[in-house]
Amino acid sequence: MTQIKEVYKLLQKEYGKQGWWPIINNKTLLCEYHKKAPKNKEEQFEIIIGCILAQNTGWYPNVVRAIQQLKLGRVLTKQEQEELRKAEINQNKISRNGKLITKDNILTQNTSWTNVEKALYNLNKAKLLDIKKINKTKESEIASLIKPSGYFNQKANRLKIIAMHLLRRPELLKEDNLREELLKIKGIGPETADSIILYSAEKPSFVIDAYTKRIFSRLGFIDENSKYDEIKAYFENNLEKDVKIFKEYHALIVEHAKRHCKTKPECKGCILRSNCNFASEKQTNQPVKNKVKPPNRSKLRGIPIPSRNKNQKSSL
Ligand code: SF4
Repeated sequence: MTQIKEVYKLLQKEYGKQGWWPIINNKTLLCEYHKKAPKNKEEQFEIIIGCILAQNTGWYPNVVRAIQQLKLGRVLTKQEQEELRKAEINQNKISRNGKLITKDNILTQNTSWTNVEKALYNLNKAKLLDIKKINKTKESEIASLIKPSGYFNQKANRLKIIAMHLLRRPELLKEDNLREELLKIKGIGPETADSIILYSAEKPSFVIDAYTKRIFSRLGFIDENSKYDEIKAYFENNLEKDVKIFKEYHALIVEHAKRHCKTKPECKGCILRSNCNFASEKQTNQPVKNKVKPPNRSKLRGIPIPSRNKNQKSSL
């Protein structure tokens, strides 16, 4: 078994199934993890919207609030936001206890949900998260709804552009050269394109983000200066080309980066510690050059390691 597969097994054992990409339930406005492919074109489009809104920001609460407001067709009040926050905390508690989250049980558990309920009952009438509606709606209106996700003017413009492309070419996600086509669209870089291909189009394209780069360069599997496509090739050459594995692996990487491999890593209790160059250097009190040890070439399978160049910028 290659080391990259071993890391996958360890993360899987530690964190369990992730079930990405989360979809926001139209009725409860809470994230749901289907652990399945998107059910229809609406869900596929919601994932595309999420991929764009997640650029340069965290998923929760920024992207979640932006999608909730798009679904609602208006800005959430402070009270509604607070009620949602409580329900989301409650939802996580339920998940941690291993109990099932059903479609309606979140709302009915909480008697102070009247305002949210009122809004949610009207949701299907006001729904803005739809390709045609995004295309017709003024950019400034979209921008005001997606404000929580940051860079809202730029992202509103990108949502209009992608909606226009999908209207012109409804079968775009099925095209063989999808990656090539997505990369031609303004505002879609490799990470967003791969997220759309993997989670919305359900095709095996490994997603590389800053977390992947951080964890695997600390482990010593890749060089911190490796380019996006080199890291992508490294994963794809060492894993079965399987949509489920690619999806789960990326989600597990994000989970691990959030729990342990943070900007300032919390190595104590990390499941990968015994195989990690960064942690072993810290333990032996040796100075860590550039915070990441150069990769062990014998661990790399099939990707060229660029020579270290201080002026070279990351492609991520
Ligand atoms: S041991 Fe520390 S640096 Fe290494 S993967 Fe774990 S948290 Fe990251």
